[in-house]
Amino acid sequence: MHPFVHASKVEQWLRQFDKKLIGHSFLGKPIHSVHWGAGPLRVLVWSQMHGNESTGLRAMMELLSDWVSSKDHILLNKLTIVYIPQLNPDGAEKWTRRNAQNIDLNRDLRAKQSPEIACFVRLLDEFRPDIALNLHDQRTFFSQKEQGLPSSLALAVPKTSESLSTDSRIVNNRRFLRDYILQMYNRIDPSKREGWSVFDESYYPRSIGEYVQESGCATLLVESGVVGTDLSRSLSVQQTKSFLKSFLSGLTSDLLFHDRSADTHLDGTQAWPFPKNEQGLVDLKVQNARIQCLNSSWETDLAIWLKDEYRDGRPWFIPILHDVGDLRHLHSRVALDKVEVHVEAKDLIVGSPITFWPQLKGYTPWADIEV
Ligand SMILES: [Zn+2]
Repeated sequence: MHPFVHASKVEQWLRQFDKKLIGHSFLGKPIHSVHWGAGPLRVLVWSQMHGNESTGLRAMMELLSDWVSSKDHILLNKLTIVYIPQLNPDGAEKWTRRNAQNIDLNRDLRAKQSPEIACFVRLLDEFRPDIALNLHDQRTFFSQKEQGLPSSLALAVPKTSESLSTDSRIVNNRRFLRDYILQMYNRIDPSKREGWSVFDESYYPRSIGEYVQESGCATLLVESGVVGTDLSRSLSVQQTKSFLKSFLSGLTSDLLFHDRSADTHLDGTQAWPFPKNEQGLVDLKVQNARIQCLNSSWETDLAIWLKDEYRDGRPWFIPILHDVGDLRHLHSRVALDKVEVHVEAKDLIVGSPITFWPQLKGYTPWADIEV
C-alpha cells in the first residue's frame, strides 16, 4: 500500500543489467547507472534524487525489465539509455527528500557540495546526452487548475538563464520537446492522458533540470502524481510507465523529427494542450462534520491529508488535519458529508496528526491502510 521501495529490491533488479558504479552517497552507499542499447541517440534518465519519490523508479524498473526480455532491436540500435535509478540512496533508505547532509540535491547544482550531485555532473559531462528525463513525484495536493481533478502526471520543460534563452540550440531543444509532447498527447488514447497537467515552469537556477537544459541537452521534467485515490501510487506507476514507453520508443521514429508543428513560438513557449496544476487538493474532506467536543457541538468542514512516512523500519500513513472551517473552495479526492465526529480539543490542531481517524476510515477507500 505504501510507495516505499526497499533497497534490496533495487539491488536484485540491477543484476540483469550492464551497470556501472558512478559514485557513492554521503554515507558511502553505491550509486549505479544502468546502460541499455547501443544507438546514436543518447538519453539520460534519473530518478529518486528526492528519496521519498519512487514512482519514476518503479516505472523505469518495469519498463527496462520488459525491454530486456523483449530484446527490441529497433530500440537497441537507435537509443543508448543511461539510467540512474537512485541518485539519493541515503534519502531513499529513510524515505526523506534530502540527502544525509540534509541538502536538497535539487538545489545543489550551483554549489555542488553533495557527493551525489558531483557524481551526477561527472556522468553528465562524460555521457553528453541529447535528451534527459528528470523523474520526480509531486505531492498529493496537486490538482489540475480549475477542474480540481487530481494531477497524476505533470510535465515541464525547464527554462534557462536569460542569456541562454535565445541560444539556438536551447531554443530548438525546448521547441522540440513541446512539439514532441504535443504529438504524443494527440496520438495517445485519451484515457491514458487523463490527469496530465503542466508543472510550475518558473526558472530555478539551482535545480537539476535547468542545469542540464543549460548544458544543451533537451530536458523534460516528469512529476508523477496520485491517480484517483490510489495513495500507493501503483496506478501512477502504470501511467508513468506508459508515458515513458511512448516517449522513449517514439524517439526511434524518424517521422517525429520532421513533423514539427509550425506554430510553436520561437522561444518554445507554445501553450500546452492540458491545464496547469495548482495546489489545493486534499485527500479527504468532511463537509458539515458534526463535531462533538466536551460539552459543545457545532458544524464545520474538516480537511485531512494522509502523509506518507517511513520510520522505525516500516511505512506509515499519518492522517494530518490540514484545515478546519468553511472549506467549500477546497477540492478533495474523497468527500464525506454530515458525519458525526467525537473529538477532544487537542484533535483539532491544524498541521497535527488526528486521533479520530478510526471514526472516518470506514467511509473511505483507505480503511485498511496502516496509520
Ligand atoms: Zn522531487
